[in-house]
Amino acid sequence: MFNRLTRSRAALVHDMPGLTRDRHYGQGRVGDRRFIVIDTGGFEPVAREGIAAEMAKQARQAVIEADLVVFVVDGREGMVPRDRDIANELRRTAAKLVVAVNKTEGMPREQIVAEFHALGLGEPLAVSAAHGDGVREMIEASLPELPQVLDDDQEFDDRPPSEAEIEASASEPNAAAAIDPAAGSAPAGPRRIRVAVVGRPNVGKSTLINALLGEERMIAFDQPGTTRDSVAVDFERGGRPYTLIDTAGVRRRGKVTDTVEKFSVVKTLQAIEDSHVCILLLDASEDVSEQDAHLAGYVLEAGRAVVLGINKWDLPDGHERDRLKVELARKLYFLDFARSHTVSALKGQGVGALMRSVDEAFAAATAKLSTPKLTRALREAVERQPPPRRGPSRPKLRYAHQGGRNPPVVVIHGNALDRVPDPYRRYLEGWFRERFSLQGTPLRIEFRTSTNPYSK
Ligand code: GDP
Repeated sequence: MFNRLTRSRAALVHDMPGLTRDRHYGQGRVGDRRFIVIDTGGFEPVAREGIAAEMAKQARQAVIEADLVVFVVDGREGMVPRDRDIANELRRTAAKLVVAVNKTEGMPREQIVAEFHALGLGEPLAVSAAHGDGVREMIEASLPELPQVLDDDQEFDDRPPSEAEIEASASEPNAAAAIDPAAGSAPAGPRRIRVAVVGRPNVGKSTLINALLGEERMIAFDQPGTTRDSVAVDFERGGRPYTLIDTAGVRRRGKVTDTVEKFSVVKTLQAIEDSHVCILLLDASEDVSEQDAHLAGYVLEAGRAVVLGINKWDLPDGHERDRLKVELARKLYFLDFARSHTVSALKGQGVGALMRSVDEAFAAATAKLSTPKLTRALREAVERQPPPRRGPSRPKLRYAHQGGRNPPVVVIHGNALDRVPDPYRRYLEGWFRERFSLQGTPLRIEFRTSTNPYSK
């Protein structure tokens, strides 16, 4: 079920050697609704010790944080006593519940589902996670009651360009000019940049937020959050409007602090999702940890623009600083598109430069790239280095258009594009990134083999 719900995003990170991913969180999407999925290892409510008890603890944590709990039961096995134990607990603790009767492909659904009514958790839904039956419907049925993710950048015209639009590239004099102000209507006034400060506990997030917000913070944090219990605070810096998405909010909600771990992965993921740009904060007094790498992986997977802040730079000496920089480049190599800044949140040093990179990353993430310029850049890339021949034919890359923003998606059309090898994709990514000055944002390249009559 987890794989089914997060399927669309999973492929992005898994070809990155060296990145151990925590598999328990993933991003899902149904239509234009995005959500975070938490996998739990299995739930033995009565377990007192050992792995089962640890898993139960993790599952309870997930239930507390979730807006919706999908209780998966086994339709082939039928109802077992443990299902009742779990149901009894979930009835008390889950914000909202749906019972998914799994493995029902090819079976008489109504019959299978009937006995699970006895759980007293509403209408059970027949699904097949392996085959995908009913899963989308299950999520769709639950969505109206779930809080909305802040999101104003996903609207995008994904229509392939007309022949005339593409061929405008022939007369386009200069593809090197970065962002095309003429493509699309510019929003009135400067956009509010939504910034999330993420990092493991104690790296200095609150201190940096203090440095950014000053007094405003005190007022804002006492107010309950927007649609959810995460907190968003507006502030201005250098005449630019920003919204800070807070990840530390959960710590300040007295009631649940005992049961919820101080560091909330879900809060962090929500903040990442809600942001335009993430400031990934690291602690210069410690080595880059696995947790840092996980967070970096989440940011990347979410497709968010990112700026690295290496905080507490006042602490290490010269030798230690050099070592740290090498380590950073090695362990977080997959964020090589991001700018990094050494800062001291405590002393307020380096914060200005950090925020300038936030602005730059935002501009890159939301850039509009015109079809003629993309197509011209594509043709130049291919001229310089054609894709390798594979089997009987060489892939033919014909034209490119922008398929999305935040992160920018470049859709390349042509023939035999399923034969474009990964290193060539990365070559194109680097090419477009440089051409269009896309510093600070992930960039996605999608290939679409044409069914178009022009492209024989
Ligand atoms: P958070 O858990 O990420 O929000 O971290 P905090 O902002 O609470 O900071 C954790 C500790 O690190 C506190 O004692 C801070 O005073 C300290 N700290 C934060 N930034 C800096 C810095 O730039 N330099 C030094 N030396 N200490 C810092």
